[in-house]
Amino acid sequence: SQRVKIKAILSSEKTNYQATVKGWVRTFRNNQFIALNDGSTNNNLQVVVSEQDMDPAEFKRITRGAAISVTGEIIPSLGKGQKLEMKAASLEILGDCDAEAYPIQPQKQSLEFLREIAHLRFRTNTFGAVFRLRHSLAFAVHQFFNEKGFVYLHTPIITASDAEGAGEMFRVTTLDLEKLPRNIDGDIDFKEDFFGRSTNLTVSGQLEGELGAMAFGDIYTFGPTFRAENSNTARHLAEFWMIEPEMAFYDLKDNMDLAEEFIKYVIGYALQHNREDLEFLAQRLADEEKQKPQQERSEMGLIEKLEFVLNNQFERITYTEAIDILKNSKPNKNKKFQYIVEEWGTDLQSEHERYLVEKHFKKPVILTDYPAAIKSFYMKRNDDGKTVRAMDILFPGIGEIVGGSQREENYDKLVERMESMHVPVEELSWYLDTRRFGTAPHAGFGLGFERLVLFVSGMTNIRDVIPFPRTPKNAEF
Ligand code: ATP
Ligand code: MG
Ligand code: MG
Ligand code: MG
Repeated sequence: SQRVKIKAILSSEKTNYQATVKGWVRTFRNNQFIALNDGSTNNNLQVVVSEQDMDPAEFKRITRGAAISVTGEIIPSLGKGQKLEMKAASLEILGDCDAEAYPIQPQKQSLEFLREIAHLRFRTNTFGAVFRLRHSLAFAVHQFFNEKGFVYLHTPIITASDAEGAGEMFRVTTLDLEKLPRNIDGDIDFKEDFFGRSTNLTVSGQLEGELGAMAFGDIYTFGPTFRAENSNTARHLAEFWMIEPEMAFYDLKDNMDLAEEFIKYVIGYALQHNREDLEFLAQRLADEEKQKPQQERSEMGLIEKLEFVLNNQFERITYTEAIDILKNSKPNKNKKFQYIVEEWGTDLQSEHERYLVEKHFKKPVILTDYPAAIKSFYMKRNDDGKTVRAMDILFPGIGEIVGGSQREENYDKLVERMESMHVPVEELSWYLDTRRFGTAPHAGFGLGFERLVLFVSGMTNIRDVIPFPRTPKNAEF
């Protein structure tokens, strides 16, 4: 008969009806009680089986991890811990599992260990909750932009340009690395390569996105992004997903307003649609917090924290104001914020960002108008000649979650800035055409999807919020 999802069964008051469920055995207690999970929820369906009614050989195959199909009646449960249970009438083993060798245990296992068996960790409650949440947030991203009339523009994964100029690109080639063709200078001759030139995996879809904005008005792209970040932080991946809206006729303030509205929308969506998984993750986090010394514990629980972000305006300050705050801050006894004091013109370190967000303002902060010298070539210069219309959004516990700006729409000013920053003007003539043919003020931002998932899930390592993490020396499966 037709399969019913366990979530649908458990979220209904209905009893005394026949159903078929298919899933995996989480535990099998007293030769009688199966805790069955099908991935739709962390709540297991208790299935009561009777040994007498079953073929002994079949019965033996009911083990932790086995895949089964079971048909029976859904009835009120007399046991504690669940309202409903299923009395099995017929049970079929679909796939055996050698429980001795099976590394997933019903008891809590460390995230570090589960990272080593990342191919199986989806089967735990923690990762069940995280990846259902991730799915929902991705859905909310599309819904938000769709409701606003943005066009989802698929920007290329393989590109010939470097939007950020940070030298973090992965090269794409079909050349035989053993016998690379060289030109007379001894340089690799990419004319021989598949595309007839050197190509890379994209670090950002922004430049292509701007082409779309100059035709559709409002676009967004949401896809994988690649950066050869040769460092092992809890915030960086070599492959991550970025949400990049680009809007014509927007200035920096419009850009900030949209980013704030967007973040609040997706958090609100999760609070509304993922309550059960969020409550599970909140409890998980609360248990972790209890292990910490009192003064390091966070004041708010996960759900409280999300509601706080939803209901409060983000602080908006300029980079220059931020530097003043940092200069006036007394070096703190708290080890985490010892340093402080910063000079105008340098980029903020993550400890500075965290001080502003976690100590000073205690809420998300939008930092604007950074020194031109530390930001990308495409950002619009302010009248002071020193700063650009950039914005970074900083989040508690995360640091930078968004980087964006109003773009330089003036052809001459843009070319001048490209030249002074050694950006290849000729190669980007397609990009400059937006400024030659009907240029218009426009703005956009990039939000790292995994950093958003980190914040909403309360997880602390970015490797735990992407299904298949890629980090230095780690590209298993
Ligand atoms: P960071 O300062 O954290 O290295 P960035 O300034 O280099 O970030 P941007 O080029 O501004 O990053 O990219 C926009 C957004 O993409 C960032 O605000 C962040 O949310 C996300 N992001 C950037 N690099 C990574 C990465 N390696 N892994 C995951 N997310 C990233
Ligand atoms: Mg970076
Ligand atoms: Mg940055
Ligand atoms: Mg940035």
